[in-house]
Amino acid sequence: MIDYLNQLGIYTFLSIKEKNMEIKQNNNWPELPNSLKNLAIFPSDPTYKQVRSNYFRVGTPLLIIMAKTETNIVDTIKYVSEVRRQKNWKITFSVRSGGHGITMTSVNDGGIILDISSLNKVEIIDANKGIAKIQAGAVWGDVAQKLSPYNLVISSGDFGDTGVGGLTVYGGIGLLVRRFGLTIDHLIGARIVTAIGKIIVADKTHYPELFWAIRGGGSQIGIVTEFLFKADKLIDKTKSIKTPICLQTVTYSVNNLSDFIHDWQEWISSAPKNLTSLLMITNSNHHVGNFSVQATNIWAGIKDENEHIWFNQASKLAGVVKHQEKVMNYADMVVAPHTPHTGQQAVYVKNTLVRAFTPQIAKEITNILNNFNSLGIELRYIGGALNTINAMTTAWTCRNAVGFIALWSAKDDAAQANKNFEPLLKLGTGVYGAYSSDLSSEENARVWPEYIASKLKAIADKEDPDKLFNQGRNI
Ligand SMILES: Cc1cc2nc3c(=O)[nH]c(=O)nc-3n(C[C@H](O)[C@H](O)[C@H](O)COP(=O)(O)OP(=O)(O)OC[C@H]3O[C@@H](n4cnc5c(N)ncnc54)[C@H](O)[C@@H]3O)c2cc1C
Repeated sequence: MIDYLNQLGIYTFLSIKEKNMEIKQNNNWPELPNSLKNLAIFPSDPTYKQVRSNYFRVGTPLLIIMAKTETNIVDTIKYVSEVRRQKNWKITFSVRSGGHGITMTSVNDGGIILDISSLNKVEIIDANKGIAKIQAGAVWGDVAQKLSPYNLVISSGDFGDTGVGGLTVYGGIGLLVRRFGLTIDHLIGARIVTAIGKIIVADKTHYPELFWAIRGGGSQIGIVTEFLFKADKLIDKTKSIKTPICLQTVTYSVNNLSDFIHDWQEWISSAPKNLTSLLMITNSNHHVGNFSVQATNIWAGIKDENEHIWFNQASKLAGVVKHQEKVMNYADMVVAPHTPHTGQQAVYVKNTLVRAFTPQIAKEITNILNNFNSLGIELRYIGGALNTINAMTTAWTCRNAVGFIALWSAKDDAAQANKNFEPLLKLGTGVYGAYSSDLSSEENARVWPEYIASKLKAIADKEDPDKLFNQGRNI
């Protein structure tokens, strides 16, 4: 029956009426503008369950706006300001792109969520120059698929469902990071909706301060609706593969983790920048001193003698349990499964960037894995192109980092994870904002050192004096 009424457009009409009733009766909020009525989802709506959550938590918002256009975003911002004014600024306001934010701030309880996942267009503007316009609601797996036929790649996250919006505004440490640098290092412009609903097109010469701030400064300046990227060419001269990479996965059984980390670092730091390496280390059997290390090594380019030498060396770093190699399209490595969000990963993540994996750091990693029931520790060697950018060029400043360490633990163990990770933080050079669930001011000070924080704060205070965008990592 409902389907039938829906077809006739009658159910929609009735539900809009009910929606306004709900807003009026339950919350005493102002009436929604006409442009948002069809996009609004309330707790009583049958579709509420499908859109209330992100990857990490189930939200209980009072209102979700499923934006379809940039104008919808502008109208939502104006509406949220109005609700906030009436409610003494107490209503939470979250922005969700891909819903994979480890900060977990893209959903909330009792507030408003603006979902922009329908703004997901990927447009190639100039294939020769690698220029692409990408809307913030797209996910990286889909971006890779769209770029691939043109032999183009943008090094982004390791998982296809992560969103362009949340990853880019925080930096983006991708699978080809050593060769191509951070995701933001390829950004040449962006459209931003500010807290007063103004649309700004920012680049190096127009609104350069805003352009600086959205490259690593997170979401406190405004909502980015569209990014202009200059993608990289990755070509196989034989033309059989569009964006060739060689992927090696090795599972090692390791007894002396410190020695292993030392040898792995020696190996990867001597390798050409074409090679990026990620490790996931677990102590899954809970045998002190016996670790399972899963290495993912990605060679940007086709299979050749050079790649063979380095992969061969990797296979000798420790006792190998499993070893696989394949040549593939970059796009096939980051396919997006488009799994609906149900708050399915109740985890808590901490990280630090490091200047080297020193013996002391290796000892602390071993210590955590031996004494804390974590889900694992991830290591990435990231030294390369990102180190060639001046620290003041973007709001992502840890340009001296060559390593990345992340501790994954169960959400309920957050306090213990903070405590156990503390020694590593002291040895680190800063924190990557997108990959930490810790929203404390101490953590923010590690993400943005004082000289960056004060510049960011001045811009945020000017653009958003009422702190409309306070759901995210904020100074
Ligand atoms: C499985 C998994 C793998 C990951 N792998 C990597 C990786 O390899 N490399 C890496 O760098 N990161 C990685 N991440 C971290 C990820 O990049 C960040 O958590 C990122 O914020 C997710 O973006 P999103 O759009 O999906 O998130 P959302 O949950 O939609 O948003 C997170 C936050 O970002 C801000 N935000 C979102 N959209 C916008 C916008 N359009 N404008 C302004 N601010 C916005 C908001 O503050 C929001 O609360 C991974 C995360 C997961 C869950």
